Amino acid sequence: MSNAFQEFIPYGKHQVSEEDIDSVVDVLKHKFLTQGEHVPEFEYQLSTKVHAKYGVAVNSATSALHLACLSLGVGKGDTVWTVSTTFVASANCALYCDATIDFVDINYETGLMCIDHLALKLDQARLNNTIPKVIIPVHLAGKSCDLIKIRELADKYGFKIIEDASHALGSSYLDDMVGSCRFSDMTVFSFHPVKMITSGEGGMIVTNNPSYAKKAKELRSHGIVKENDKLLDKSKGDWYYEQHYLGYNFRLSDLQAALGLSQLKRLDHFVYERNILFERYKSMLHSSSLHLLDSGSTQGNTSSLHLAILMLPELNCHQYNKVFSFMRENKIGVQLHYLPVHLQPFYRNLGFKEGDFPNSEKYSHTALSIPLFVGLLESQQHRIVNTLKEVYSQLKFS
Ligand SMILES: *Cc1c(COP(=O)(O)O)cnc(C)c1O
Repeated sequence: MSNAFQEFIPYGKHQVSEEDIDSVVDVLKHKFLTQGEHVPEFEYQLSTKVHAKYGVAVNSATSALHLACLSLGVGKGDTVWTVSTTFVASANCALYCDATIDFVDINYETGLMCIDHLALKLDQARLNNTIPKVIIPVHLAGKSCDLIKIRELADKYGFKIIEDASHALGSSYLDDMVGSCRFSDMTVFSFHPVKMITSGEGGMIVTNNPSYAKKAKELRSHGIVKENDKLLDKSKGDWYYEQHYLGYNFRLSDLQAALGLSQLKRLDHFVYERNILFERYKSMLHSSSLHLLDSGSTQGNTSSLHLAILMLPELNCHQYNKVFSFMRENKIGVQLHYLPVHLQPFYRNLGFKEGDFPNSEKYSHTALSIPLFVGLLESQQHRIVNTLKEVYSQLKFS
C-alpha cells in the first residue's frame, strides 16, 4: 500500500491564517520589532485567558522553565523533581540552576505523575532531609495532573509547584483553566509550532505572585532594572539603569508576540477541532484491539488534546520498531512521546539507569503518537487507522 505519491502526514503542525500573516506584516511595516507594545499585550491577553494575574513572555518554554526555577530561588544544593515521561527541557531547567534533578514515576494508565509514588518518595525524602524545593508536574498531551493532591502534599512537605503546561494551553481542570495557578506557584506554556498555538518559537510563564513575575521579567532581560521605584540609587537621571542579577536575553520579539496574539484568538477553535479529530479516531478504532490514551475529559476537566497517543498492547522492542517503521514507510509521522529522560545518555552519566522508573520505561514501549493537528482530513485519518490495522495484524504475538 506504500505509495510514492502519498503525502507525508506529520504528527503535529501549526495552522497559520491570513490574519496571522497580516498581523506580523503590520509589525514589520509600522511597529517596533522588539520591546514594543505586542509583548505586553500578549502577556495580558494570555494570562487573562487562563485566569492568571501576570504573564511573562520569553523566547521558549525551555527559557520559561529555567526562569521559573530561578524566580523560585532554585540554586546549588536544591533538588527539583519532575517525571521521566516528558521532554528533556522539564528536567534540564533544574540543571541550568546548578540544582539536582530526580524523577517521580508515572501512573502507567494516565501517563501522568503518580501521586502514590510521589507520596512515598516524599516520605523517604523527609527521613533523608532531601525534600525537593520544586516539583514540576507535566500535563502530558493536554491532560491535567491531579493538582489538588499535589497541592496537599506541597502544603504538608513545603515544596513549590511549577506546572509544565507546554501541551495544555486551553485545557481545564476542576472547572478552571490550566494556568490559573489555583494549586501551583507558576505555570509554563510553549508556543513551538507543534504546540497549541505558535509564535514561531516562544513561551510564557503565568503566575498570581507579583514578586515571581517581577523577578522573571528582570531575569529575562539581563537582570537589568530601569523603573525608578526599583532602582537602588534614585538620584540619577533618565539615562540611568542598574543590573541587579545575572540575567539573560530570553526576550520574545514583537514579531513573535503579534503572531502569538493573533493565534490566541483561535485557541478555542483549535481545542474544539482537536477534540473532534480525537473522537473520530476513537470511533474508527472502536472495533479493533487498539486504543488511545484516555483524554481525561470529564465534567469540569477538558484536554487541549495536544497529542493523540495510541496505547499499543505491550510490545517487545522488535515489534514496536516494526510498527514505527511501517508507519513511517507509509509516510505517517508517528512519534514517541516520550523516551524516558532518565535513560538519555546525558542522564545515565548522572547515575540514572534502566529500572529506576519502571512505569515510564514500560510506557515507552507502548505509546505511539499518531498525527493530530487542525486541518487533518477525515480521509487522512482513515489512511492512518488502516495502515495501523494492517501492520498490527502482521505482528506475531507469542
Ligand atoms: C515542547 C516542550 C517543552 C519545551 O518547549 P520549547 O518552547 O520548545 O522550549 C517543555 N516541556 C514539554 C513537556 C514540551 O512538550
